[in-house]
Amino acid sequence: MHSIPGRDRSNHGLPARITPAVSGVPSVVESLRIHSGPRVPFSVEFNPPRDAAGEARLWRTVRQFERMHPAFVSMTYGAGGSTKDRTARITGQLAQQTTLLPVAHLTAVGHSIAELRALVGSYADCGIRNMLVLRGDPPGDPLGEWQRHPDGVEYAEQLVRIVRDLGDFNVGVASFPQGHHHSPDLDTDAAFLAAKLRAGADYSITQMFFEVDHYLRLRDRVAATDAEQGAKPIIPELMPITSLRTIARAEELSGRALPASIMRRLRAAAGTGPEENRAAVRAAGIEIATEMAQQLIDEGAPCLHFITLNFAKATNEVLTNLGYEVTAAPLSA
Ligand code: FAD
Repeated sequence: MHSIPGRDRSNHGLPARITPAVSGVPSVVESLRIHSGPRVPFSVEFNPPRDAAGEARLWRTVRQFERMHPAFVSMTYGAGGSTKDRTARITGQLAQQTTLLPVAHLTAVGHSIAELRALVGSYADCGIRNMLVLRGDPPGDPLGEWQRHPDGVEYAEQLVRIVRDLGDFNVGVASFPQGHHHSPDLDTDAAFLAAKLRAGADYSITQMFFEVDHYLRLRDRVAATDAEQGAKPIIPELMPITSLRTIARAEELSGRALPASIMRRLRAAAGTGPEENRAAVRAAGIEIATEMAQQLIDEGAPCLHFITLNFAKATNEVLTNLGYEVTAAPLSA
């Protein structure tokens, strides 16, 4: 679907400079502009499927999202690169076989700089220009101590520079409304984010959160730290809760316990019977996500980025509640 880049194979077989990077592929920031209109653009996150059945389901979801026209779709990278080959293949297929704009998550965990450069080169070969550049979570325990690869990078900021030096890639980074769990304080955390943006990132996507105020304060802090970097899009990440089981996943991804007010609503919906009232919990979760999304729209968020867990239905319901004209075709849960 997109043109394949030419590659300079000097530097002992590693791509020294990938030129032209990936012509004709819009950057995320350009795509946000293209998708801006009466409605704030939205985008979605997929996860690498674990097996063939998961992959088949993902492709059904991908086709459903093609009809909903997200500004971009991002594909996470398993902790420690555990699903590396499948992830790279599917992300490439998203670029080559769909109408969607894929963003590849690139993480430094367990990789030397040479491997990271080769990975960027292989993504570029598939027509991928957009990368979300991350340090990555330690495998096994996302909150555990970070171990740098002996020939790798210490911070995402370094990887941003490496990717930018390789060619005309569009780079996003992670941001943390409540601060990264290893940051000493919120202001230092904002200063590190500003440094990543100064290193060449064009936007950030936040960690998932459940209090819009945290997002707004992050925006304020980055603007106060560096007004130029603060003007770059900070894309909020949302996850509609669809069952009590997804709460654990939400807490893992947000790195925090859910706020008590949200837990109260979900537990009230679940009821006191031996079985959770799944329909009511799902309705409450969709309602909470819709309220947050509306607040974010009112506050001028540049895009709404949805964690989908590889299903389209919940995102579709939230967008429909917000008045987006997205397809009403049958969707998987
Ligand atoms: P960094 O920016 O390097 O920050 C790591 C820590 O170092 C922070 O505490 C920061 O404050 C500190 N720091 C930064 N710069 C400096 C400096 N110069 N000096 C001292 N300290 C510094 N993980 C995955 O494994 N795969 C994924 O696909 C993935 N996708 C994600 C998507 C989003 C939107 C987000 C928000 C997170 C994602 N993560 C993913 C999780 C992320 O990799 C972890 O949160 C990781 O611990 C931090 O990554 P980072 O890129 O922010 O790291």
